[in-house]
Amino acid sequence: MTVSLCKHSHPVQPPVGTILRPGPCTDCGITWDEVQDEVRRQEDALINGTAHEGTCPDCGQHRTLLRFQPPSQPWEPFDYEPPVSFLCLDCYNAAAIEFNAGLAAVYGSI
Ligand SMILES: [Zn+2]
Ligand SMILES: [Zn+2]
Repeated sequence: MTVSLCKHSHPVQPPVGTILRPGPCTDCGITWDEVQDEVRRQEDALINGTAHEGTCPDCGQHRTLLRFQPPSQPWEPFDYEPPVSFLCLDCYNAAAIEFNAGLAAVYGSI
């Protein structure tokens, strides 16, 4: 496995990319999809590694809590960190659905 120190800069200007489908990194050529896959793998590892018992802030039940952080978007600054919360599985799924619905609203208006 190679570790890239490239910060990745993905063009969002046509014809190489768009705001929804950025083009490959202008420095190392990695595609946006590959970066997203890698981010997802790291997130899964992080979620599994940080899951713990506790009281869910949303429903107040004592359950296994999972780390929830909305994925960053192409138009956000590279070092922007979305807020992290710890939610039970039910609330986690609800938050993910809500996030995706919000995203669909944003994308739908472009
Ligand atoms: Zn790169
Ligand atoms: Zn909950």
